[in-house]
Amino acid sequence: MAAPQVVVVGGGIIGAATAYYLSAKGARPIVVEAVSPACSASGKAGGFLALDWCDGNAVGPLARRSFALHAELAATLGTDCGYRRVRTHSISVRQPAQRGAATAAAASKRLPALPDWVDGDNIGQAALIGTEENTAQVHPELLTRALLQRAQDAGGSLQLGAVVGLAVEGGRVTGARVRARGSGQERELPADAVVFAMGAWSSQLAQWLLQLAGFSVSGLKVHSIVLDDSQNRTTPDCLFLAYRGTDGKSLEPEVYPRPGGQVYICGVSEEDVPVPATAADVHPRPDAIATLQGVAASVSQELGRAELLQQQACYLPCTDDGLPAIGRVPGLENAYVATGHSCWGILNAPATGEALSELIMDGKAKSVDLRAFDPARFVRRRAAARA
Ligand SMILES: Cc1cc2nc3c(=O)[nH]c(=O)nc-3n(C[C@H](O)[C@H](O)[C@H](O)COP(=O)(O)OP(=O)(O)OC[C@H]3O[C@@H](n4cnc5c(N)ncnc54)[C@H](O)[C@@H]3O)c2cc1C
Repeated sequence: MAAPQVVVVGGGIIGAATAYYLSAKGARPIVVEAVSPACSASGKAGGFLALDWCDGNAVGPLARRSFALHAELAATLGTDCGYRRVRTHSISVRQPAQRGAATAAAASKRLPALPDWVDGDNIGQAALIGTEENTAQVHPELLTRALLQRAQDAGGSLQLGAVVGLAVEGGRVTGARVRARGSGQERELPADAVVFAMGAWSSQLAQWLLQLAGFSVSGLKVHSIVLDDSQNRTTPDCLFLAYRGTDGKSLEPEVYPRPGGQVYICGVSEEDVPVPATAADVHPRPDAIATLQGVAASVSQELGRAELLQQQACYLPCTDDGLPAIGRVPGLENAYVATGHSCWGILNAPATGEALSELIMDGKAKSVDLRAFDPARFVRRRAAARA
């Protein structure tokens, strides 16, 4: 029997992980990506991973399974994606640092648990909130690209183009209409199954499929920067900050040194900014980037002087109940959704892809219970609200 052809819409980490695990189960995934692989949140995220920080809500088992799969992928993918275990600290920072101030050494002496490079002037209370046992990191863009590459090596493929509609016959999806990037030509791609992993663009689904009327995924715009650390002054210590700037505004930025001489910092969001047509239309705001550079300087004198390598913004895909949507499209055969992973999409991508591949290929997800993530819940809620 020919390998089932599964069209995966979206080349972010959720689409890439789904394609990877589908190809391992003998399917032929075709990933259709509108701009370029990892062009949005999956290429601009931090890549912080935690074993048990989602315990106590429905995402807990998904996160635990995924944390284990990340370690397995690091050992088996054959590509270095910057995976390593880390220590994690929470730190309060009261004011942006004044460059060149002389109190840094005193500050680091006061806080012996912090690494030497965390020597900002206004560092306040600090606590160790994660160890190498339960926290880790990975480079999200490298991992997304590596998963896609392995899926292609195993018989899958990648097409650059936007899915602009679907072919539906007799209650099942038979194909996706793809507008090629560049030529703009449209053609139908036949499919035995379709997975929608469109991140912050997933609300389009409600327009394509009556079965998903009411399905909504919003996008929250978040900024990030990458700084040069080619002297490798930092250590595997991730920082979660409670930060108050000179303007009095409170932020919760995150600072992640990466192997290979870079430091990633994110944390300035912009409320109520509509998701633009494509990821290529997302641009950072200069004031947000300046704020993140101020955060860097307040944490570390070294980071305050570091060269700015990347300034960027992207959209977190969020559902209104805070849980991802993973599973079958209600009322339609062979159509599946995987989106809404919010701030834990890098962590939860492997277990999402693994469970979806089981659902598609074996009829049931065995590795994780997906019931809490059923996309039908949005449709049920809308029907209940109308009744
Ligand atoms: C600043 C920031 C930091 C983060 N840090 C972390 C972290 O440390 N740890 C963690 O676990 N998570 C983190 N996240 C969350 C994580 O990045 C996201 O949850 C995850 O990347 C979402 O992946 P995705 O594949 O669903 O979406 P995306 O990465 O947005 O990918 C969706 C893709 O679908 C494509 N697409 C959309 N519509 C179509 C169409 N019609 N046809 C074809 N292609 C289409 C888009 O072009 C895009 O490439 C962070 C997010 C942000 C914003």
